[in-house]
Amino acid sequence: MSTSTTTETEALPRIPVMVPWLGEAEAEAAAEAVRSGWVAQGPRVAEFERAFAAEVGAAYGVAVSSGTTALHLGLVVLGVGPGDEVVVPSLSFIATANVARYVGATPVFADIDPATGNLTPDTIEAALTPKTRAVILVHQGGVPADLEPIRALCRRRGLGLLEDSACAAGTRYRGRSVGVGAQVAAWSFHPRKLLTTGEGGMVTTDDAEWAARMRRLREHGMNVSAADRHASAKPVLEAYLETGFNYRMTDIQAAVGLVQLGKLAATIAERRELAARYQDELAGVSGLTPVSDPEYGQTNYQSFWVRLEAGFPVSRDELLDRLSAAGVSARRGIMAAHMEPAYADVRAPALPATEALSLNSLILPVFHGMTGAQQDRVLAVLKAAAGA
Ligand SMILES: *Cc1c(COP(=O)(O)O)cnc(C)c1O
Repeated sequence: MSTSTTTETEALPRIPVMVPWLGEAEAEAAAEAVRSGWVAQGPRVAEFERAFAAEVGAAYGVAVSSGTTALHLGLVVLGVGPGDEVVVPSLSFIATANVARYVGATPVFADIDPATGNLTPDTIEAALTPKTRAVILVHQGGVPADLEPIRALCRRRGLGLLEDSACAAGTRYRGRSVGVGAQVAAWSFHPRKLLTTGEGGMVTTDDAEWAARMRRLREHGMNVSAADRHASAKPVLEAYLETGFNYRMTDIQAAVGLVQLGKLAATIAERRELAARYQDELAGVSGLTPVSDPEYGQTNYQSFWVRLEAGFPVSRDELLDRLSAAGVSARRGIMAAHMEPAYADVRAPALPATEALSLNSLILPVFHGMTGAQQDRVLAVLKAAAGA
């Protein structure tokens, strides 16, 4: 903090919006990988893939360098390419739209359900054209999308469905992981998410051929992995079957990921408690609507947002300023890609629900170890702004 005067609130440590829950076990696991002498993709990546796929209810996991590269490989195996259109929510981190362009396709923005921040069968239908080849469905901020009708719509229309589950580790749909039954799902292990490997991602699928192809694609299109070649007693001559990428995860990252995976349930339980307290305290505050579970599932509360209803006495940006002045790091609501310069040239239909949620919501602090007193500080600013 660089201010010269110290007020009472500034003397308190700043409340972060999110901190990864990392400890000695992760440090030890990373050190052990280093000591083993094998630091690139190897046995720990294979173990992490098996454990993560089992956790989210998929047959195969393919670990990669980020959630973004996971999405890219997902579109490749769905066969999306130049000339195709991909329906995506504008309300998402920009990588969701960018990956459509990586394969030479055109992203087409669809609107969202204001309650969940997610695409619905109706908003998807409104964006379909004869050129539509696939849909990228996001579980925004960890809130599950309504999977059954959307999967059914895509099956009926012969569309690929890539589930952007970057935020959704541990999110549940009708009692099971959102990963169960996905054609292909992409996950992120960025520190902003609930399970982190520093950077990293995973693609999960039940399709053995797609999994095998993604394993090749992440490793330059090679038909045998460097780890398998190394383990073989006889010299192995590899072949390069198609143009691939270097999207590998390291064994150091996977070692950290295995420890983090063991903490996922505890992380979510803690976040759900913090969210419930925010929801209780804000229930009587008019003009503020906190995110909550949809009737069909449970969010992991990776992001906890509140929406300012029309007529709320202060603007969203003013509220962010007031929180900041009280030593609270909050964030603007989820971005809308169609409002960014990178997408100024994309034909965007009216997206009223997207714009309203993006412009009128903010993300509140929720992190491991957050205390009641810290939550009170956040709530006090919100209640004062509401005039409560
Ligand atoms: C974080 C995120 C991504 C990108 O993941 P990275 O690991 O940062 O590449 C993609 N989509 C959504 C919805 C995200 O929240």
